[in-house]
Amino acid sequence: MSSDVPWGSGPVTVRATCVLEPNAGPMTLDGTNTWVLLEPGSDRAVVVDPGELDEEHLRRVLATVDGLGARVALTLLTHGHLDHAESAGRFGELTGAPVRGAGHGDAFADGEHLVVGGLELEVLLTPGHTRDSISVVLPADRAMLTGDSVLGRGTSVVAWPDGELAAYLRTLELIERRTATGEVATFLPGHGPVLPEAADVVQHYREHRAERLEQVRAAVAAGAVDARAVVEQVYAAVPREVWPAAEMSVQAQLDYLAAQGDRP
Ligand SMILES: [Zn+2]
Repeated sequence: MSSDVPWGSGPVTVRATCVLEPNAGPMTLDGTNTWVLLEPGSDRAVVVDPGELDEEHLRRVLATVDGLGARVALTLLTHGHLDHAESAGRFGELTGAPVRGAGHGDAFADGEHLVVGGLELEVLLTPGHTRDSISVVLPADRAMLTGDSVLGRGTSVVAWPDGELAAYLRTLELIERRTATGEVATFLPGHGPVLPEAADVVQHYREHRAERLEQVRAAVAAGAVDARAVVEQVYAAVPREVWPAAEMSVQAQLDYLAAQGDRP
């Protein structure tokens, strides 16, 4: 799904501009998307996920904000993984603006509304990829910043043991409800291209998770004794460099099945 779409920095919706960090890799896809959010006419920007610590990237983010005639008033982190949050402290120093999320600043309440220079945002607690994952709704653009809960290419990983499959499935349901009501039409992911058909994407995610779970259940029934053995059967088609991630996802699925009493 969208795997051939080229992706890079630039404006994406009326209020959201991407600054792509040059840290591409098997887990970060094209690199980390740092998002600059700004209400038209305002001079107070929100930056989401300044990324892993790279001074040059941070300078590019600041130059982008400056080019929009604004300064950074608030920085948000979708979760604590280093590829999103490592630079949070340094970016806070550079901007003098507060940082929230992933243990920085006040914890979010689910559904918390933020208003920054006329820009309205809603923070949703969306654990599963990690315990601390949030998503940020940008209602005026009918967009949602999904962090790593939904990615621009392929599918997401449940980063066991911090991540948890039951929580992730609830998160996908929650996200799907927002697309079903039409509140959210576009996903702005933490990695990879913008997803303009959010409802289809989240449905695909839910189907994919159910399919994988069925495959894992079958592999265990056929005698696979541990996560590695399950990966060798179920994820045979995915590149070996992502097998460690697949193993985490399998471990999360084994835990989920065990909790359901579905595993010997
Ligand atoms: Zn990430």
